[in-house]
Formats: sequence, C-alpha cells, structure tokens
Amino acid sequence: MIDKTKQIIVYGADWCPDCHRSRGLLTDLNISFVYIDIDKNQAAKKKMLDLTGGRNVIPTIILPDGKILQEPSNQELEAALGVNLKQTAQDKEYIYDVIMIGGGPASLTAAIYTTRERIETLILEKGVVGGMAALTDVIDNYPGFEEGVTGLDLADHLQKQAERFGSKIDYNEVTSITIEAGNIKRLKTTNGDLLAKAVLIATGSDYKKVNIPGESEYFARGVHYCATCDGAFYRDKKIAVIGGGNSAVQEALFLTRFASHIDLLVRSSIKASDVLQEKIDELVSEGKITVHLQTKTLAIEGENNEVKRVLIEDGSSNKSKLEVDGVFVFVGLEPNSKFLVDSIIELDDIGFVKTNDNLETAMSGVFAAGDIRSGATMQIASAIGEGATAALKIRHYLEG
Ligand SMILES: Cc1cc2nc3c(=O)[nH]c(=O)nc-3n(C[C@H](O)[C@H](O)[C@H](O)COP(=O)(O)OP(=O)(O)OC[C@H]3O[C@@H](n4cnc5c(N)ncnc54)[C@H](O)[C@@H]3O)c2cc1C
Repeated sequence: MIDKTKQIIVYGADWCPDCHRSRGLLTDLNISFVYIDIDKNQAAKKKMLDLTGGRNVIPTIILPDGKILQEPSNQELEAALGVNLKQTAQDKEYIYDVIMIGGGPASLTAAIYTTRERIETLILEKGVVGGMAALTDVIDNYPGFEEGVTGLDLADHLQKQAERFGSKIDYNEVTSITIEAGNIKRLKTTNGDLLAKAVLIATGSDYKKVNIPGESEYFARGVHYCATCDGAFYRDKKIAVIGGGNSAVQEALFLTRFASHIDLLVRSSIKASDVLQEKIDELVSEGKITVHLQTKTLAIEGENNEVKRVLIEDGSSNKSKLEVDGVFVFVGLEPNSKFLVDSIIELDDIGFVKTNDNLETAMSGVFAAGDIRSGATMQIASAIGEGATAALKIRHYLEG
C-alpha cells in the first residue's frame, strides 16, 4: 500500500489523453499528487528526462519510493500503488446483459443505446476511453460540428452521455472469449473472468511497426506513432515521417505546426486524396516538407538516447542519411483481434472480424462494430452508426 504522506509527481501535458486518464484515476482513488505540465516548465521537463534516461513519454509518474512509471495502464498504476479501484471480478458468477470490448466511439454509442433501454452494460477498455478518436487532434468531418471538434472533446461527451444512462466503464484488457452452457460468454481479462449474455467486439486497430533497426530501441525517445500525442515535443525540430497513405500525409501536415522541417519518406508513391496532395504540394513549395518517393527507410540511428538520423535508400539503391530529431511512423493499422485467434469467431485474411448484415459474428450472441469489423470504412461517423445498429441487434438477441 502506498505511503499517502509522501508526494506522487505526475509529469504530463494538457493535450495528452493518457495524462488525463492517469490523473483521473489518482483523483478517483483519492490519492494526492503534484501535477507538472512539462510544456509550461522546461526545467521540470529536463528533470523528467534526466530521471528517465531520456525517455520522452508522458505521463511519467514518480512514486514516493522513487519508482518511475511511464504511460502506465490503470492496472499497472493500481498495482504499483497497491490499490484497486474497481474489483470487477468481485462476483465471478455475476452475468452482465452485455459486455462491450473497447471504449471507442462504436462501444460508447452502443452503450448509450443499451443502457437507455435498461440493458446492463459494462465497457472494458485497455487504454484510453474514446479510442483512436481521442488520440485525433481535430475531427473536421464528424457531422454536427461546423468548426470541427477535438478528439478529446468528442470522446469526453460520448463517455459522459453513456455514463449518464448508467454504463459502467472498467480499465481492463480482454484476452479471450469462450462460450459456455446456456449461451453465456466467458471473457478472460487481465483482472479475472467476466460473464455476459451478449458481447460487442469494438476493439478497433493499432499502429503498425516498420520493423527496422533502431525502431524499438528509440521508441518514445525519438520514434513515435501518434502525432497528436507526441508532435508537440518537436517544436522547431526536424522530423522524418515514414508512410505515404492518407493518414501519413494527414499526420505530416499536422506535424508542420511544430516541426521546422519534415522529410516524408514514401516507399512507392503517395496514395492520398487530392485535397491532401494539394496541401502537401503547397508545403513542398514553401520548403517546409521534402517528399522522398521510392524510398526505403533502412534504419533509425542515434546517440546518447536521442535520434540523430535515418538511413534511407532511393529507387537506384543509393544510400544516404538524413539528419532528424524524431521519426513518426504511419504505415497503417493492424486489427486488435489477437485475443480472438483461438476462438470460433471468424477473421478475414488481415485479422478483421467477419460479421453478417446484423453485425453478428460466428459466435452466437457476439457482435462486432466499428473499425475492427471486416469491411469497415474506418470513420468515426461509421463506427458510431454501427454502434447504434449493434445495440438494436443486441436488444433483439437478448429479447430472445
Ligand atoms: C491518425 C488518425 C486520424 C483519424 N482521423 C479521423 C477523422 O478525421 N475522421 C474520422 O471520421 N475518423 C478518423 N480516424 C478514424 C477513427 O479514429 C476511427 O474510425 C474510430 O475511432 C473507430 O472507432 P472504434 O470504436 O471502432 O475503434 P477505436 O476508436 O480504435 O477504439 C477501440 C478501443 O478498443 C480498445 N481495445 C483494443 N483491444 C482491446 C482489448 N483486448 N480489451 C479491451 N480494450 C481493447 C482500444 O484501446 C481502443 O480504445 C482517424 C484515425 C487515425 C489513426
């Protein structure tokens, strides 16, 4: 158990969703802490980097015994503190009406519908409530917000609306689903087993790695996958962006707010919409972005815990090095479906969950919605629409 007389220090920033999550958990646990915004206090940021061997990751949490946690999950933070806010597995035989896996827009919407109809709903989230949407800076194409809406704001409104009707949210990772007698689904989680009559899988996807030397070594010390989360660390610095699809181009454009220059490293050619291509062309002519087509990134190199350069090879096999302070990788997403590979739930070739027109999977009473569903359009508006549809199908299933 933590010594509450000694102070916990949380280094973070207001734009960081994981910092909001960790601060929220400490507040819910009634544990006092000192919050230091590293954007507003450069001396504190330097101290944080000294303490962490240069690992530029927030939140960084210093416990009273000197133990350092970086970007901990809620379970990791609770375990380090020796406390547990929610004993989810308290009654192992309790059967929920529906458990929703993932706390992104699809699940939060489905939960608004189910709880409003008094269907008892538990959402399990392993990371940040709001999912990918919460990690997106500004969402310009979500209907109803003529000036756009920040991802954090949209996520916050969805969560509050779902909670207003009684949805419960627990920070927990699901590791498998099996079906038992009476069509009851057993979910193994990092916090014990849970039972439900129906399940919604809405686990979205995660960033893909490029698997080159230096990528894992410099992870969070100069190699990043989320521009919204980490872009602000690169004010007036040089960045390489790896990738040439819509999201790489979108993220490169976002990073121009901070970086002095961006090298966009594209393996073949840019495959982005005309609007994005036009914006890139503008920034290329202003000298803010240099596009390297037909270019392989071979390695990320550094010194003293800092990224210094990338080794690249052009289409004629000429190798060269580019001096950069950081590398952002945007080469696509992979479905969060590893926990399903041994189940009877069918996946497509890439690993997305197959459903019928009613969003039902191959396991009776288990539905899928949003980005994880095979054929999904990977948009918040679609995830929200599918969440609503799934809720109505779940109600129908529960009514027998
Ligand atoms: C950089 C970027 C920019 C984008 N910009 C836009 C945009 O401008 N407009 C737009 O419409 N869309 C945009 N999108 C897409 C949009 O974010 C997604 O379509 C949307 O968030 C999908 O919602 P979802 O609920 O299906 O999944 P997600 O939002 O991915 O949420 C899934 C959640 O499930 C959790 N999870 C995964 N596995 C488990 C497990 N085993 N146990 C418990 N929890 C788990 C994850 O932690 C995550 O929080 C963008 C995406 C990215 C990556």
